[in-house]
Amino acid sequence: MTSLSVPVATLGTPRIGPRRELKLALESFWAGKISEQQLLEAAAGLRIANWARQKSLGATIIPSNDFSLYDHVLDTSVMVGAIPEAYGWKGGAVSLKTYFAMARGSQGDAHDASCSHAHHGHGVTAQEMTKWFDTNYHYMVPEFHKRQTFKLSSHKVIEEYDEAKALGYQTRPVLVGPVTLLKLGKSQDASVDPVSLLDGLLPVYVEVLQELARRGAEWVQIDEPCLVLDLNETERNALQRAYARLAKDVSGIKIMLATYFGAIGDTIATALALPVAGLHVDLIRAPQQLSQIESGARQDLVISLGVIDGRNVWRSNLSALVERYKPVIAKLGAGRVQIAPSCSLLHTPIDLELETGLDPDVKSWLAFSVQKIAELSTLAKALAGDASVADALAASDKAAKARQTSPKIHDAAVAKGMAAIDDAMRRRTSAFASRAEVQRKRFALPAFPTTTIGSFPQTADVRNARAAHAKGTLTNAQYEQFLKEETARTVRWQDEIGLDVLVHGEFERNDMVQYFGEQLSGFVFTQYGWVQSYGSRYVRPPILFGDVSRPKPMTVEWWRYSQSLTKKPMKAMLTGPVTILNWSFVRDDLPRSEACRQIALAIRDEVTDLEKAGATMIQIDEAALREGLPLRHSEWKTYLEWAVESFRICSTGVADATQIHTHMCYSEFNAIIDAIAAMDADVISIETSRSKMELLDAFTSFKYPNDIGPGVYDIHSPRVPETTEMRDLITLARKRLSDSQLWINPDCGLKTRRWEEVRPALVNMVAAARELRKAL
Ligand code: GLN
Ligand code: ZN
Repeated sequence: MTSLSVPVATLGTPRIGPRRELKLALESFWAGKISEQQLLEAAAGLRIANWARQKSLGATIIPSNDFSLYDHVLDTSVMVGAIPEAYGWKGGAVSLKTYFAMARGSQGDAHDASCSHAHHGHGVTAQEMTKWFDTNYHYMVPEFHKRQTFKLSSHKVIEEYDEAKALGYQTRPVLVGPVTLLKLGKSQDASVDPVSLLDGLLPVYVEVLQELARRGAEWVQIDEPCLVLDLNETERNALQRAYARLAKDVSGIKIMLATYFGAIGDTIATALALPVAGLHVDLIRAPQQLSQIESGARQDLVISLGVIDGRNVWRSNLSALVERYKPVIAKLGAGRVQIAPSCSLLHTPIDLELETGLDPDVKSWLAFSVQKIAELSTLAKALAGDASVADALAASDKAAKARQTSPKIHDAAVAKGMAAIDDAMRRRTSAFASRAEVQRKRFALPAFPTTTIGSFPQTADVRNARAAHAKGTLTNAQYEQFLKEETARTVRWQDEIGLDVLVHGEFERNDMVQYFGEQLSGFVFTQYGWVQSYGSRYVRPPILFGDVSRPKPMTVEWWRYSQSLTKKPMKAMLTGPVTILNWSFVRDDLPRSEACRQIALAIRDEVTDLEKAGATMIQIDEAALREGLPLRHSEWKTYLEWAVESFRICSTGVADATQIHTHMCYSEFNAIIDAIAAMDADVISIETSRSKMELLDAFTSFKYPNDIGPGVYDIHSPRVPETTEMRDLITLARKRLSDSQLWINPDCGLKTRRWEEVRPALVNMVAAARELRKAL
């Protein structure tokens, strides 16, 4: 116990509260049930608890300003005064009202997440929202304009530093770095690259850092995850300019420049040459960075080693980490090293101990944010030769060993199935042209066939019944009866209004991934494992821990029942393997591609059983295929190869006459159109209503041969589209695709809409298709 213990940093912690306290406070505030003061008190309570928890777990470098009422990128836009005119801000301190208007639109109905996992969110006046790198967290896109000026407009970072200090914590405040802020932003003027606004932005950062230094902050953490993206020359120069300027104009505070989510790659020379005091690197995603850093870093550069996975839920093998990092510390010198998670713990659930329903073996392999901080603290002690952690190390070894060999993870039948995948399982029997002919005869659909994407309104009744069933106040039989009635009503209504291809409505599903995860082997679910998706929306991702198989059919009975109610084709509805994978915490002892293939085999079993039961059309949704694209272009090809392969494995076990549909919640296919074509679905439905069909150009220039249903009804809005509007959209689509390819459908599922909106909208949609048919 002689040597110096290595400092332990957390980089950031979840802000939502172990029992979703922040959500409760926000939603009560928005509903007018609590005052602004009460909201701010609840938020302060969460920060206090966070600081205390981190300290008690052994963190020695504790962040501040990692907390946010809604989103830390929005906080940063507000800090620098990048507030578009539309929000009516007149300078001065930014009110909560303005802040939430930017977040949610002034009616507060903006981000209605029609695609079950949030995303999009084009409210009337809310800022745009998009994925934070390759996480399932979404940030508010900063918006700049040509004459953008910047001015310190929120003192949040300073106030939270002071707040912590008053409680006795010397924190390391966290800021989104200037280059990342600009690069993630967009400009209202196409001619202005946001990064070109850097010089105007830097004085605000200078001012903030100086103020923090004046108040006693010793370090600040500046996050520049843009360093793991493909950067151009201008962006690299911007990084150099930014940190040279901060080094020149700020004194008395050290900068820990944090990168995460990947390798700094060919920008590493730039990164290592920046005049900052410390550099954090993600050694989970990019372990190969270590040797480059060891050899290339300045002698006085403090290295923060991201050694525990901040993006996943697995317990670490601490002995292995001790062995790996002991020599690194010896080489760099203990005074130059900090240890940390790979990235902020924002992306992990909070506390495993709250989970009472997990399989105890699986539970013993997991670590959430609380456990991860404890792991870091144990690791720091072990690295310093502290013998008191021997038991903790032994327990960690034991869990690692048990996990490696557990029969709960390794299923010989799955291994056999995987080995048996051959080329025939990767393609349909015949090419699309011949299938299309068989299918045309079989279905004899009218031109411009109409259908929907799957879900119908999840009304309060539906949600209440599900909750009552989960609680046990509604018996299985009662719940099933309820669902049957709901389904029957929906099917009959679709029949009545004249839709051509029907769906059952998905009332029995809690979530498009969870519903399948719960029925597949290899997944577990948590009670409190929430992670922030955006604002007050949190998700509880399934945890994929073992080999995946399908013990029994998952959807066949519901399909059979709903088909029995109509003579029209009833599309069976499944979630695809790539989407299940991308919206889950995935095992780290198997490549993602392998896990995906396993899920594909399980879905293939379901597809085959549906066909056997008589299903003639089967839709396999891949809502998250595009969002799984790696951060670096150089890795896209490999990802798309296995993603497409997985889709093909799950979808090709059927006869030519069986029609495979897929659905994707977006329309930007330019860069991946060949992969989309390679999926070879007979029909794809996509989201196009807001883009005036321009995004169909990718399909046109590719000469995409299969059928397409470009969305003609924006389901993100409560507005009911008129027949003429939809007819005009279809007319635009006809300019780009041949009539024989076109299907008519909404942009996405209807589960977030109300029946009052859905009924007239779909009636209008059918009318639009009929008008066009008549004119043929
Ligand atoms: N079938 C799903 C639904 O309609 C698809 C949702 C999605 O792709 N996000 O809800
Ligand atoms: Zn969708």
